[in-house]
Amino acid sequence: MNVLAIGCHPDDIEISCAGTLAKCVKRGDKVIVAHVCNGDMGHVIIPPEELGPMRNGEAERAGALAGIEVLTLDIGDLLPNGCDMKQRDAVVEVIRYADPDFIITHSPTDYMPDHLAVHKLVFDATFTASVPHYAPGKYKASKVTPLYYMDNLAGMRFEPTVYVDITDEIELKLEMLECHESQLKWMRDHDHIDFADFVRTCSKFRGYQCNCAYAEGFTEELVYPKVVAKRLLP
Ligand SMILES: [Zn+2]
Repeated sequence: MNVLAIGCHPDDIEISCAGTLAKCVKRGDKVIVAHVCNGDMGHVIIPPEELGPMRNGEAERAGALAGIEVLTLDIGDLLPNGCDMKQRDAVVEVIRYADPDFIITHSPTDYMPDHLAVHKLVFDATFTASVPHYAPGKYKASKVTPLYYMDNLAGMRFEPTVYVDITDEIELKLEMLECHESQLKWMRDHDHIDFADFVRTCSKFRGYQCNCAYAEGFTEELVYPKVVAKRLLP
């Protein structure tokens, strides 16, 4: 299968669904991760023009650990806009390039405005990408792709309906997360926050809910015609 995960910032995917994506690679799927934003506002001291390229590099290193291709739409932080047709078209292009059997993205109950904008861009683009006469370009129109939403930060306002056992992938997931040095090292050194422990604990909590050591939770977008009568997640 082809799998596409579209996150807002570099590291959002690692936090919420990297274990599942690593498991997809293991079963033979081709996995692509696309970051809509370059994360350029994600630091108190490093200026945006330095941080954006730095974070794209961190995301590529994280993806390489699991055999995942990483793309960026390179939009600045705080600029994603669910009603911006150019941004939607950029997501359409990524979907048509990846030709996914399913897509994972942010949930509509997320806490962060940029994440919510990405949610809308992806929801709209999954339909738009399937229209053959819309913006015909390098790639053929996609199917109307099933859509899964990954967990919110700290699991808040999120009740999973599907779980993936990531017990065998948790250490790789955390290694991938550690690639985001500009975020994790900074939080450790200056805010005394161990974000890796935060992510491990949330995965453990989801594991308790489905009787395994570590898990990631998802919900499925139940709208016509995005639903299929088989399990797509590993
Ligand atoms: Zn984010």
